[in-house]
Amino acid sequence: MVPFVYRCTVCGGRFERDRVRYLCPECGKAYHPGMPLSGVLTAEFDHERIRRKFRRAKPDWNLFCAVEPEFHPPYAMAPTPFARSAALGEAFGVPDVWIKNDGLNPSGSLKDRASFLVVAEAIRLGERTIVTASTGNAASSLAAVCAAAGRRAVIFVPKSAPKAKLAQMLLHGAQVVPVDGTYDDAFRLSLDYTARYGGLNRNTAYHPLTIEGKKTVGLEIWQQNGGRAPSVVVVPTGDGVILAGVHKAFLDLRDAGLIERLPRLVCAQAERSSAIHDYIVTGHYRDAVSPSTVADSISVSVPSNAHLARAAVLQSHGCSVTVSDEEILAAQRTLAAASGVFAEPAAAAAVAALARLRDGRLLAADDQVVVLVTGHGLKDVDAALRGVEMPAAIPPTARGLDSVAERLAEKGVPA
Ligand SMILES: *Cc1c(COP(=O)(O)O)cnc(C)c1O
Ligand SMILES: [Zn+2]
Repeated sequence: MVPFVYRCTVCGGRFERDRVRYLCPECGKAYHPGMPLSGVLTAEFDHERIRRKFRRAKPDWNLFCAVEPEFHPPYAMAPTPFARSAALGEAFGVPDVWIKNDGLNPSGSLKDRASFLVVAEAIRLGERTIVTASTGNAASSLAAVCAAAGRRAVIFVPKSAPKAKLAQMLLHGAQVVPVDGTYDDAFRLSLDYTARYGGLNRNTAYHPLTIEGKKTVGLEIWQQNGGRAPSVVVVPTGDGVILAGVHKAFLDLRDAGLIERLPRLVCAQAERSSAIHDYIVTGHYRDAVSPSTVADSISVSVPSNAHLARAAVLQSHGCSVTVSDEEILAAQRTLAAASGVFAEPAAAAAVAALARLRDGRLLAADDQVVVLVTGHGLKDVDAALRGVEMPAAIPPTARGLDSVAERLAEKGVPA
């Protein structure tokens, strides 16, 4: 039995899963490249069935999954760590901070969750080729999952993407198409590519199962948190699909009778790539003009999922903040030094947001705040090295050692 139907988030129209593939056939007509998607579909599950079958003591997450397990690719996903960090909380003056470390997914980012489900769907449909546009992580993730599944990945990516991400795509054997342009250019080109040559398009929010895939991070948080929703989840935001996915997780949990209150979602964006933030604050959508930030994974002019992302924040009574590149890089260092978690700059934006939430008095004293670390710091070592200085090398001699002691004494570090 098929456990869900697609529902259009604009007109409410319902569709059997194999009658539609990407956007609502009606509302999607209004979409032109260069604007946020219209007619994004959401998977609507049979919550009565979940209520009957789900056991808290032994959760069967396939009840919440839009693709049957027999189609899942042989790509080893596992729950990522979820732990309280008293030191990080202290550093930011927020009492109860938890880190969900999705940088520890197999390809180093949360994108694995979406790639896994879309490739499962490709296997179900018998599609050999999966196509995507990406700032970098979606592509490196899709390349990895396709390698495991014996499928072909065709990837449109800005040629300026960090080296480690490009290396991943190439080593996993993807067909990499560097674009001499922006992520938004790559998005448009990849849509044209599938329209002309076929294959399954994995573009974020365009394929509805990207939202469903990213949803699993919210389900996991619920389980790791003892079957409770936290008060607040801070989400670094580019296209707004993680935000919508986390929200969908808690909506599904609520509708299945497993939680009563939705966590407030915080949209964290870079100051100079803030289209969704501005939309939330003003109520009017405008593109981010010439987005530019060290946080490459959240650098986007026209966020594909702007409408649903805004709705997720409003419906959850959350809020939105922006942070500067300096704050992002400083938060990356604080997180690394205080908690042992190395995050890429986009993920560090969520950490930097803690200071904004504290200063804006947007948190209650007893709020349990979860920071979503979405990508690993090794993804972009050049960015990480911007804020630190490598000490000069010493000669391998006794004199060299003496200089070490002097150096540490100068810094006031006890021996
Ligand atoms: C993709 C990505 C994001 C943003 O996700 P959206 O769904 O585009 O908002 C944040 N952090 C990292 C590391 C990412 O790869
Ligand atoms: Zn519609």
